[in-house]
Amino acid sequence: MDVGQVLRRIPKMDALLALPEISQACERTSYPEVKHLIAQELDHIRKQVLAGAETEVPTKEAIARNVLAQLDASGSFSLRPVVNATGVVLHTNLGRAPFGERMARHVALVASGYSNLEYNLAKGKRGSRYAHVERLLCELTGAEAAMVVNNNAAAVFLMLNTLAADERVAVSRGELVEIGGSFRVPEIMAASGAELIEVGTTNKTHAYDYERAVEAGARALLKVHTSNFVMCGFTEAVGIAELARIAHPAGAYVLYDVGSALLFPGEVLGLTDVEVVRRAIAEGADVVTFSGDKLLGSAQAGVIVGSQDAIQRMKRNQITRMLRIDKLSLAALEQALVWQLDPACAREQVPALRMIAEGPDILEPRANELASALDDVPGALTQVLPVTDEVGGGSLPGVELEGRAVALTLESVTAEDLERKLRCALHPIVARVSEGRVLFSVRTLMAGDIQRIADTARAIVGERGEAR
Ligand SMILES: *Cc1c(COP(=O)(O)O)cnc(C)c1O
Repeated sequence: MDVGQVLRRIPKMDALLALPEISQACERTSYPEVKHLIAQELDHIRKQVLAGAETEVPTKEAIARNVLAQLDASGSFSLRPVVNATGVVLHTNLGRAPFGERMARHVALVASGYSNLEYNLAKGKRGSRYAHVERLLCELTGAEAAMVVNNNAAAVFLMLNTLAADERVAVSRGELVEIGGSFRVPEIMAASGAELIEVGTTNKTHAYDYERAVEAGARALLKVHTSNFVMCGFTEAVGIAELARIAHPAGAYVLYDVGSALLFPGEVLGLTDVEVVRRAIAEGADVVTFSGDKLLGSAQAGVIVGSQDAIQRMKRNQITRMLRIDKLSLAALEQALVWQLDPACAREQVPALRMIAEGPDILEPRANELASALDDVPGALTQVLPVTDEVGGGSLPGVELEGRAVALTLESVTAEDLERKLRCALHPIVARVSEGRVLFSVRTLMAGDIQRIADTARAIVGERGEAR
C-alpha cells in the first residue's frame, strides 16, 4: 500500500468529534482543548506514516482513548507537570520550588476571584501591593523597609539603576558571577547604567581594595553571593560590616545580592553556610536582594529589603512599574513569609525545605517502595543505591545531600531509550542515565510519583501507543 493510501485511511476530525466519549469529554473540559489534542494526535500519526514508521493506522476508538488519557494528564498544554527524579531540589529547568498543598490552595483562592491587591480595605481607597508583605519582611530581616519585584535579576537591576546609575560601583573580581539563565553581573550593571569598577583579584579581595575604590569615587560597594560555585584554598573576601565601615563615612551605599535566602538560621535544616539576611542588615547593608523561588520556596519574585531612604527611591523609580510583581506570586510569597516566622513550620509546609532536610532514614524506605513497585514490571531489574543530591537553583553550592536512588534496567529497552520514553510520557518523568541504567533519585519525588513511575515503566514495556 502506498503512503497516499495509508494517509487517506487516517480517521477524520469530524468522525472523532462525533464519538460519544469525545463529546462527553468536551462537556467535561472544553471543546477547544479536546479539538487541539485530536489535531495534535492526527498530526503525529500523519508524520509517522510519512516517515515510514507506520503502515497500520489506529482506529478512531484507539485515537479517542489516547486523547482522553492525554486530557487527564494535562497533555493538551505545553506547560505541564513533570516528575522530578533528578535529586536536584531547586531545579532551574523544572520550575525551581514546588508549592505545597496549602500554598497552592491559597494562590488558587486569590486567583479565582477579585482581591485587595491594590486596595486599602480599611480606608476604602487605593492601596499599595507592597503593603501585603512589607511588615513581614521587616520583621523577618530587621530592615526598615521592603518591596518586591518580578524576580531577583530585576531586583538587582532596580537597585543599581535607582541608587547608582551613572555612578561607579565597586565589585570584587571574585564575585563577577554568572548565574543560570544568563544573569551576568557585569552585564546587568551595564544595563542598569552603573559603571563597574573591578577590585581585588579572583581569589583575594582586601578591605584596602574597596577603600581605594571609594577614594576613586565609587558611590556603592556591591557584594554578590557566589551562588553556584565555591572558592576554596588561598582566598579572602570582605564582609558586610567591613564594607559598611568603608562606604558609609563617604556617603556610599553597601549593596548585597544574596541570591537565595532563608530568613531563619539554616541549622534547623542541618545547613551551616546559609547567608543570613538579618545579619547583613544589622552589619550595615543598605539594600539586600534575594529570590522568592529559591530557598524561600514560593513563586518567582525578587525581594528587596533595606533602608527607608533606598527603598523609597526604588519605589519611586518609573522602571519599578515595568518590573512589578504579579498578584499570584505575591500571594505565594506572603504565605511563604508567614511560615518563615517558624522554622519548624516552614520545613513542614515548604516541599523544597522538607526535601533538603530529609536524610537516608526517610529516603531509604521511599527508595525501597519505588524499587518494589518497579519490581512488578515485567523484565525489570532494580537496585537501591546511595547517590549525592543537590540543592540546586543557585543555592548552597558545595552542599552535598546524602540521597538514595533506584537504578532500573528493563530487559527490552536500552537505558537511553528508557530515559527518552519516560521524558516523553504523558506525565513526563525526568530521570538520568548512569552506567547503562536509569536512576531515579527519590528525594525530589512528590505524592503519587512512585505510582506514576511504575505505571509509566509498565506502559513502556507493554507498549504501543499508550506511553508515547
Ligand atoms: C539566582 C540569583 C540571581 C537571579 O535571581 P532570579 O530570581 O533567578 O532572577 C541573581 N543573583 C544571585 C546571586 C543569584 O543566586
